[in-house]
Amino acid sequence: MAFIKINKENFFHNLSQFTKKTGSKEAIGIVLKDNAYGHGLELMAQLSQEFGLTQAVVRTYQEAKRIKPYFQKILILGDYAVQDEACSFALNSLEDIDKAEQGSMVELKVDTGMHRNGVALEQIREALERIEHRELILVGVMTHNRSADELSSELFWQQKNFEEVKKIVKNFGISNIYFHSFNSATALRLPCNKEETIRLGIGAYGYSELPNIYETLDLKPVLSLWAKKIATRTLKKGQRVGYGGTYVAPKEMLISTYDLGYGDGWMRSSSLEAFVTAENLPILGRVSMDYVSLESSQDEVCIFDNALKAGKQLNTISYELMTQLHKDIERIVL
Ligand SMILES: *Cc1c(COP(=O)(O)O)cnc(C)c1O
Repeated sequence: MAFIKINKENFFHNLSQFTKKTGSKEAIGIVLKDNAYGHGLELMAQLSQEFGLTQAVVRTYQEAKRIKPYFQKILILGDYAVQDEACSFALNSLEDIDKAEQGSMVELKVDTGMHRNGVALEQIREALERIEHRELILVGVMTHNRSADELSSELFWQQKNFEEVKKIVKNFGISNIYFHSFNSATALRLPCNKEETIRLGIGAYGYSELPNIYETLDLKPVLSLWAKKIATRTLKKGQRVGYGGTYVAPKEMLISTYDLGYGDGWMRSSSLEAFVTAENLPILGRVSMDYVSLESSQDEVCIFDNALKAGKQLNTISYELMTQLHKDIERIVL
């Protein structure tokens, strides 16, 4: 199977860049959902703890249970609330309030314009009443920005709505909770000192999907994908490689098969327009379930070391490329 190298130094470098903006490590909730964006859940939890982070964000309670030893507090974005002294649960709708276990810690998500999850501004009071009535422990109120990584002023419109949310919550008589709305792109664009915590995902892994026009931090990719040689052969001019024989050797070539395929989460579509690896080797012919062919005889090849650039070749974003990488691929820390 292919393998992944995790560059710890780069991860720490990225986290330091953001702690400079937040002023403290406690103000960062490291987002570890979806196998830590493909980097490996437990591994990244452990490195985050080593760096000194105390808070994490995941999608499911299952994920939270696996990383509990590493954090003081974990926010779960997409599961029903249960009682757990280390975990708080985002309430994505009024129904979520009814489904929550009595005594569980919750964070109310408010829809400030993304229209994906959260209660509407007009529903906040009702939500807070229901939370009290159901005897849930409200620890936070949050929202999510839909366009922080785009060249538009929508971010400011949503931030203004969130200020309104804070007023409504405070007027209800609630204090001692924390408000949060920053993802990576927001943290890159705005000063972080007024936020009590930022939910830091892609930036920690080394990427900014912001248009170049924005000044950004110096971020370094953490993950690189590698494959090992399985077999080498010489192709004669005119011989074809792989399923369908879509690649025809234009000359005599020394090629090798490497142990990466779509079964590992590497996209088969990358053979439609030959993907070019980090070492400038185009994939020859179709990607199989477990193999690709390259004109090389190296024992190991680097498929990509920059998910943003690789994603552009594949018509997708760094997030998708990395989260697809199979969880069983071995992750090695450098
Ligand atoms: C995934 C997610 C984040 C992190 O977003 P990045 O763009 O990776 O920083 C923050 N908040 C919520 C609610 C999310 O779902």
